[in-house]
Amino acid sequence: MDLTVKNTLSVVIPTFNEEGNIELLYNKLRETIDPLGLDALEFIFVDDGSHDDSLKIIKRIAAHDAQVKYISFSRNFGHQLALKAGLDHARFQGVISLDADLQHPVELIPKMIEKWRAGVDVVYSKRIDKTLPWFKRTSSKLFYRIANSLSQIKLEYGVADFRLMDQKVIQALLMYKETNLFIRGIIPSLGFQQEAIEYSPNKRHAGKTKYSFSKMLRFASTGITSLSAKPLYFSIYFGVFFAFLAFIYSLYAIYAFAFGNETVPGWTSIIASILLIGGIQLIMIGIIGVYLGKVFAQSKGRPNYIIADKNTLDD
Ligand code: UDP
Ligand code: MG
Repeated sequence: MDLTVKNTLSVVIPTFNEEGNIELLYNKLRETIDPLGLDALEFIFVDDGSHDDSLKIIKRIAAHDAQVKYISFSRNFGHQLALKAGLDHARFQGVISLDADLQHPVELIPKMIEKWRAGVDVVYSKRIDKTLPWFKRTSSKLFYRIANSLSQIKLEYGVADFRLMDQKVIQALLMYKETNLFIRGIIPSLGFQQEAIEYSPNKRHAGKTKYSFSKMLRFASTGITSLSAKPLYFSIYFGVFFAFLAFIYSLYAIYAFAFGNETVPGWTSIIASILLIGGIQLIMIGIIGVYLGKVFAQSKGRPNYIIADKNTLDD
């Protein structure tokens, strides 16, 4: 099989409790991609430890369709790692990743392939959304603003993990050996020719979003701390700032001691400053802790994910 001809495609779908969506998504994918007459095609469902019937449904489809592959995790490892596993296993020249909940319009795929064939190595999608819930929109805008101000990498608002990548981009990505790789942030930094296409997202077809508020916070903090070490410097800035304040205040204290006609009880100011400084120290220790945790995780060299079951990917 000649892989330099852009006529083979892997489709990666991270799946976590999506029993209501898989069948429909699969049918839509078939409907959209089959007419393109590709030389080789595979659908890789990565079951991220679902506790509904997702895996059963995927296996049932795979039993009838040799192009359907599955990787089943031993437990829930999170969307990014499910995506990573899928990309790790994708064998063909073009690799598309998309969500299982039909929010990413399958109809866009032919357009992505067209751009890819025209020479674009990463065709990513950018959502133009008025339909997204206010909270989600505002929080993700805030995340991008913070992430961008902290790092050289420019994440774009509205860019999620619905994209087509050439296999050479995947190979570049595979060289990043860090634990909990923040795929969305790394891809723009890889270089290559990258271009966006815009879309308005559909409503989630069935089930609920898996990104709870706490998961979103964790995602944001992983994102920021894996793109940038800048937060570590905050303690220096804060330290200098408050040392300066303390210096001014001590000048005043000396002055008051020397010329003071008022005896300062002092309790309030001491408590206030202890609380303030204590609070800041805790925040800073926390930030250092997050990074230390990353070093710790990396040094242990633990696997990113554990596969409990898969059908053979190399036939
Ligand atoms: N997902 C996953 N593991 C998780 C959470 C989500 O594989 O722990 C999958 C999920 O099945 C979906 C995609 O990641 O295909 C995006 O999740 P979701 O739709 O819940 O996120 P949202 O669109 O609300 O940001
Ligand atoms: Mg979704």
